[in-house]
Amino acid sequence: MDETQSASATTLGGVSPEEAFAILGDETRLNIIRVLWRAGALHAYDDIDDSTSTISFSELRRRVDVDDNGRFNYHLSKLVPHFVRKTADGYRLSGGGKRIARTVISIAGDHDATVAGEVSTDCPVCGAAVAVTYEDQWLRFACTECPGLFGDAAPDGTLLNAPFPPPGLAGRTPDDALRAELYRCMLDLTCLMQGVCPECASAVRGTLSVCDDHDATPERLCGACGTPFVAWGELRCDTCRFAKRLPVELCVMGLAPVIGFL
Ligand SMILES: [Zn+2]
Ligand SMILES: [Zn+2]
Ligand SMILES: [Zn+2]
Repeated sequence: MDETQSASATTLGGVSPEEAFAILGDETRLNIIRVLWRAGALHAYDDIDDSTSTISFSELRRRVDVDDNGRFNYHLSKLVPHFVRKTADGYRLSGGGKRIARTVISIAGDHDATVAGEVSTDCPVCGAAVAVTYEDQWLRFACTECPGLFGDAAPDGTLLNAPFPPPGLAGRTPDDALRAELYRCMLDLTCLMQGVCPECASAVRGTLSVCDDHDATPERLCGACGTPFVAWGELRCDTCRFAKRLPVELCVMGLAPVIGFL
């Protein structure tokens, strides 16, 4: 079906990452994806929507607002078949096109989106109050008194720190945001510990590092590694570079038998 299919291990369904960046690096093409998304012209067998609605060439060109037929056809042809599928009835997004649309939606939203204040859960290390901040699309919960869980590996006081899409903050209190971030982190960790990248589904590489001169106490970070934990696990996807580095105690929280036991 796809004549451009390549044998290279790094190609993504016939398009290399470099080619995918090049194809999408154009305003008209991203507009085509936006218009198809808005119109609900999606790939058949979406999770809850198996519609096969499509948009005709002329209607799509009108909605994207390009007068030049040839120029529009050139840009549309670049998106087919990887991001847009052409059918007998018209055009719709492919699975890859939907993924692009969802990525744009998840990083868009209010630039001033924020959540601030204290949560009702106390610090698991010292029992002091825990405060939430949102900066650079990172949602961080930090102890207001102690150095937190990660020592030098994270900003002072950090207990939980992860990227969080701005739309996810809408209508959420600090406690709601904490619950949402915990679920997202646990799902990522569960996937990673099974050797599956949550972003691109590639295999995940796990390594363990141990501090040979560890001397931390409950009151003091280790002088050698600057953290309270002797062993850290790193889970890394070499395909899309998604990675997490966490104390092994937290890594095993992503294993189904541990979750079941708890
Ligand atoms: Zn604390
Ligand atoms: Zn150490
Ligand atoms: Zn990946």
